Amino acid sequence: MITTLLATAFLQTQGLPVVKAEELKKHVAYLASDELKGRGTPSPELIKASEYIAAEFTKIGIEPGVGKSFFQVTKWERGAGAGQEVRNVVGLLRGSDPVLSKEYVVVSAHYDHLGEAKEGADKIFNGANDDASGVAGVIGIASAIAQSKPKRSVIFLTFYGEERGLVGSQFYAKNPVFPLKNTVAMLNIEQIGRTDDSEGPRVGACNLTGFNFSTIGPVCAKVGKEVGVPVIEHPEYSAPFFMASDNAAFAAVGVPAHTFSVAYEFSDYHKVGDHADKLDYNNMAKITGMIAACTLHIANSTQVPSWNKYQKRTSRYIEAYEKLQGRKVAGDGSGKPN
Ligand SMILES: [Zn+2]
Repeated sequence: MITTLLATAFLQTQGLPVVKAEELKKHVAYLASDELKGRGTPSPELIKASEYIAAEFTKIGIEPGVGKSFFQVTKWERGAGAGQEVRNVVGLLRGSDPVLSKEYVVVSAHYDHLGEAKEGADKIFNGANDDASGVAGVIGIASAIAQSKPKRSVIFLTFYGEERGLVGSQFYAKNPVFPLKNTVAMLNIEQIGRTDDSEGPRVGACNLTGFNFSTIGPVCAKVGKEVGVPVIEHPEYSAPFFMASDNAAFAAVGVPAHTFSVAYEFSDYHKVGDHADKLDYNNMAKITGMIAACTLHIANSTQVPSWNKYQKRTSRYIEAYEKLQGRKVAGDGSGKPN
């Protein structure tokens, strides 16, 4: 009861973080433009996209995460384009609490897509929903909470190479810029623009993969209820899609990590018609505001997220968590909200 009252008081004071639909639209319009040729990994256009994201972080007042740079740079290693530079984009909102600022909440999305098709009238895989929408969400959240002084630090991360097998997120997990041991949660964002889910319209609510795998699902559902944007568990896809995006790379090393999505299946998925004009930006602004509220809640909470040991699919993540932390899973392991 006390926790609920406190949470309500907190949200009433803070309100739903404001995210502007036209800002999100501007980010998607650029990232999904033909000029960026589908943001293939690796490509000069993907580098251009990384520079756009870094410039937006700078405007908002987000610090570079890698020394004086926003870029975690490496070389693409396999197949087409081997030897070319690739980058994760890393921004930091430093926490305000002297102790908790050394703990981190990651907010992420992948900024690459499929590049260009070999033939056809329209060759460019614009990837507006997948995942320019998620990247716009990350920038939108950064903008909405930049002045909020969260206790923990928030890392804004956008990855290369997701479409080629979660390569950028796996590279980060192997070469973390901030200690994974102190990374308490990852909130990843994929496909938050399209509301025309193949199962029917999905407006005003947001899915979370692996909903009951950790306390993050129930905690975000509680925050979502407070701000009027339900966070839901898809009856069929919640568990299987847990492995389908960059959160999987973090979960594999033990960090409680999930992906927010509005529609899982939509008609233009991985097709050249995934265009910017098909996104619902007003809905996207509400969803992004809700994820911003979840980010602040976790960044300010007295307790850190923990894996749910009663969920049979989590044993490998708990094993990784215990290896990473050198101790048993945090909390009571029941997966109930802190
Ligand atoms: Zn994607």
